[in-house]
Amino acid sequence: MIVVVVKPTAEGETRAALVPETCGRLKKSGLDVLVESGAGAAAGFADGEYESAGARIAPNATAAFEEADAVVMVGTPSPEEIIQLKSGTLLFCVLNPLTQHDAVRQLAPRGVSAMSLDLMPRITRAQKMDILSSMTTVGGYKAVLLAAAALGKMFPMMMTAAGTVTPAKVLVLGAGVAGLQAIATARRLGAVVEAFDVRPAVKEQVQSLGAKFIEVAAAQEDAEDAGGYAKEMSDEYKIKQAALVAKHAGESDVVITTALIPGKPAPVLLSTETVGKMRPGSVIVDLAAEGGGNCELTSLGETIRHGGVTIIGPKNLPATVPFHASQMFSRNVGAFLADLTNEGRLELNMEDECVAGTLITHAGEIVHERVRQAMGLEPLAAPQGSPV
Ligand code: NAD
Repeated sequence: MIVVVVKPTAEGETRAALVPETCGRLKKSGLDVLVESGAGAAAGFADGEYESAGARIAPNATAAFEEADAVVMVGTPSPEEIIQLKSGTLLFCVLNPLTQHDAVRQLAPRGVSAMSLDLMPRITRAQKMDILSSMTTVGGYKAVLLAAAALGKMFPMMMTAAGTVTPAKVLVLGAGVAGLQAIATARRLGAVVEAFDVRPAVKEQVQSLGAKFIEVAAAQEDAEDAGGYAKEMSDEYKIKQAALVAKHAGESDVVITTALIPGKPAPVLLSTETVGKMRPGSVIVDLAAEGGGNCELTSLGETIRHGGVTIIGPKNLPATVPFHASQMFSRNVGAFLADLTNEGRLELNMEDECVAGTLITHAGEIVHERVRQAMGLEPLAAPQGSPV
């Protein structure tokens, strides 16, 4: 079977869905890899490296799609790309299908079996295939560098002949994968770090990274769902949380926000009023910008100023660290492909949690129940499709 990688076409995208190292592994498991010329160039991987790893190079995307049994992408295929996918093609990509429905609607009638890697179940076996964790790790790291570059202060404490420089104070809101990486990076740069999350389960992880965990007093609510994700909290909790966040944000030089609730708009944690009380010169990096933003003032893809506060709303941060982001994405998707490969063929076993959790369209239908619900469609009468 032929697995295809094309050059990313989305604006600002630089990542390659497979890097040469993974192509070599797939080749050993009996899959052929066909790479559009230049597909890895923006991430630092030359055509020659793919060829050395055993992949073939196609002159353009159209030639690659013609031969594809499977296609791997770092984002959502464009309408022009979807038109080129043959019926029966396996597509491994990132659709964000709970909130973005256009591509799903277009993929289903084309008979494409589309797997959205962002819905990989968070089970131990799937950790090696978890692109969300990989990409948010990169984002958490880069957010701190953006904040450090925009702040008019240094992060570490310094004892110099010119006197003592006090360390920067960083507040991280949301201590999941991105938040924990932001804490670790800010600590490595020498900042004093505090963090808040609705899930008390993360307290020990925050403390083990050398940061202080701040908590909403007397919170009794169950903040976590069965998948380990945050649930939406009560209004009473939100009021207490807003007061806590406002107090600590006002004492911080940098606030990095990472709070997300799957399938829902990001919770607003920094109101305009709270930003108004922050110190002039302080910096907010809103990693939830693509989900609507944790700061009321965030503008996606832009850096704005409110009073003396800089608010950065980054778009696709992993694409700004393309070499390692591609390597991690590729290893994740490579692990998934390896799991599905049997005697040189990719097979979809609908009993497999990782397939059932990620398969969005198959045999002409939208087959994912949560996605159907999010799109306002009736539940399917019976499970669709049979193994490919
Ligand atoms: P996420 O990106 O959905 O959310 C980021 C963080 O924001 C979470 O910690 C969440 O609790 C927090 N948050 C949500 N609403 C908030 C609010 N109003 N105020 C403050 N914080 C808020 O989550 P994530 O980082 O992708 O993952 C969440 C957890 O899932 C991880 O910490 C981990 O325990 C678990 N996980 C498990 C696996 C696995 O087993 N395969 C893989 C990755 C993550």
